[in-house]
Amino acid sequence: MTGLKYADSCDVEVNLVLDAKTLLAGGDTPVELDGYGPISPDVADEIIARAPNASIRRLLIDPVDGTLIVREPRRRRFDRPTSAHIRTRDRSCRQPGCDLQIRDDDHIQDYQFGGPTTADNGQGLCARSHTIKHQPGWTVKADGKTTIWRTPTGHQYRSTPPPILPGHLRQ
Ligand SMILES: [Zn+2]
Repeated sequence: MTGLKYADSCDVEVNLVLDAKTLLAGGDTPVELDGYGPISPDVADEIIARAPNASIRRLLIDPVDGTLIVREPRRRRFDRPTSAHIRTRDRSCRQPGCDLQIRDDDHIQDYQFGGPTTADNGQGLCARSHTIKHQPGWTVKADGKTTIWRTPTGHQYRSTPPPILPGHLRQ
């Protein structure tokens, strides 16, 4: 009906407008799908679940006057400026000991566990390190600008973005 059947393969941004009750407690007030119209919260959940490549932005409505109050920073994909920031800052894969080229922008704290899609919660990883990070037993946490990688054997390694010195920029 909305073309969302194809959302799996598309790089789209979906704006969902909802009230605070629906956001916090799973209310049943219709959700406004930007550019389409009102849909039920269940359908909204379905869209979010079925569109792994979509950026979902939830826009919150003031319960008193119905105006838009909050633009919740819950985009799943890093936008271009944020991605560029991460890649310029990290320069190469951030897994300690790995120096491969960055392929992915990774949420240090997983998006599904509430990690924001921001440069501070982002790190550049190569494909291999990205896979490793999500294996059982591995944890990665941020400590300021440093990330701490803990292996399944309990060893900890720290990774800090390299200094960017004038005249030493790559590319
Ligand atoms: Zn790597």
